[in-house]
Amino acid sequence: MTLRLFDSHSHVQLSQFDGDRDAMLGRARAAGVTGMLVLGTDVASSQAAIALAEAEPGVYAAAGCHPHDAQHMDADSMSALAELARHPLVAAVGEIGLDFYRNFSPHDKQIEVFQQQLETAAEVEKPIAVHCRDANDALFPIIESWSRRQGGRLPDGRPLGVMHYFSGDTELAERYVELGFVISIHCSVTYPNANTLQAVAQQLPLDAMVIETDSPYGPPQSRRGQRNEPGYLSEAVAAVAELRDESIEQIAAATTETALRLFSPVSTAATSPALGSARTAGRSAP
Ligand SMILES: [Zn+2]
Repeated sequence: MTLRLFDSHSHVQLSQFDGDRDAMLGRARAAGVTGMLVLGTDVASSQAAIALAEAEPGVYAAAGCHPHDAQHMDADSMSALAELARHPLVAAVGEIGLDFYRNFSPHDKQIEVFQQQLETAAEVEKPIAVHCRDANDALFPIIESWSRRQGGRLPDGRPLGVMHYFSGDTELAERYVELGFVISIHCSVTYPNANTLQAVAQQLPLDAMVIETDSPYGPPQSRRGQRNEPGYLSEAVAAVAELRDESIEQIAAATTETALRLFSPVSTAATSPALGSARTAGRSAP
């Protein structure tokens, strides 16, 4: 059985891949990565994510402003992002969230931009991809009240979104699952000292989990210090399989199904083309 993997979080539209993007996507396909979400961090990189989704079957775009970039946002750029969120190839609003670790943008500006994008996501009825670093005390209550207002699900019954590069413990993961989210396990699950994340990967119900590379950032243990790319996702999948004492095929099938369910509108979830296959008329329609 060939593996079918989905990289639930990557930035392969960025310039780090300008020299070898086609070859990198070829390596991803060869490694079984049939789908990936490519996330913007500002207006330009969101547009680039959409352009890649237009060109490459199996690539799903997300449009959003990363907390690092919040300080640069004004009314015009926020409305440009809200417009991009409506694009038919935009599967999610992201990457959005709070980062109180690097603090590239003031906290109140990060919160303002995050909350505006939550409203956009509710309007366009698409899931969100959430970044949270050292900011859970501020982020959780915002997500909690937003989730309650959405009824804990998208109108079509899908989860509300994904907690990307999850860095909390199992108890916190379960609280986000209760609020209607899935948890994304990052390649760092392969690091020898990643005890908390490994416990989450071991203990969380398999159907609440997706797996990501966050390319070009955060490579798996075997590639420390190098650029990460979606083809390395299998290393994280193998680590999760070993932690759970389940087969790589089981982990791949379950997490890919969850990602496709999350990022595909219900009417097209069963027919989304794989990376490298011919695009169907439905997905390329305006
Ligand atoms: Zn990211």
